[in-house]
Amino acid sequence: MPVKIDTADGFLTPLIVCDECGEPIRDARDGNYHWQADGDGPGPGRRFAFFTHKACCDAFERGRGGAAAWYAMELSDLLPRLAASLRLGLAAMSE
Ligand SMILES: [Zn+2]
Repeated sequence: MPVKIDTADGFLTPLIVCDECGEPIRDARDGNYHWQADGDGPGPGRRFAFFTHKACCDAFERGRGGAAAWYAMELSDLLPRLAASLRLGLAAMSE
């Protein structure tokens, strides 16, 4: 999973790294997450997630079976879903 910890500035900063170009995605609005379609829809299966900059999305899919082989959503949509699956109450954190 392309999540790395950057310590260059003396702090522990988690970064999501683009699976196409290898550079960090610095703005959630500039990123997508992808998972393999397998031709049967999202279904109950568990699939690994991959990340790209929006500018790298087409190249990522083209190099891995084409757009029909992948589902993709905006990275900004993943973070609330991930927080919910981890039972991380974001509303409680902002209080
Ligand atoms: Zn990229």
